Amino acid sequence: MPQACARCQATTRQPVIVAIEHGASVGGRTVYACPGKCADSFPKQCGPFDGGLPTRYVPISQRR
Ligand SMILES: [Zn+2]
Repeated sequence: MPQACARCQATTRQPVIVAIEHGASVGGRTVYACPGKCADSFPKQCGPFDGGLPTRYVPISQRR
């Protein structure tokens, strides 16, 4: 479904999710951008779409 790009405010038919803003009561807001230049201008964010943190980020002290 078309979404407004958070960078250039244009409506894009192929929105790319660039960020998830977490809210206390609203459950978070998804930020979209158009693919390409706008999406690349946002920093990559670790989120549920990545399947969680890579195992290498687990502190060594927690490994057994
Ligand atoms: Zn854009």
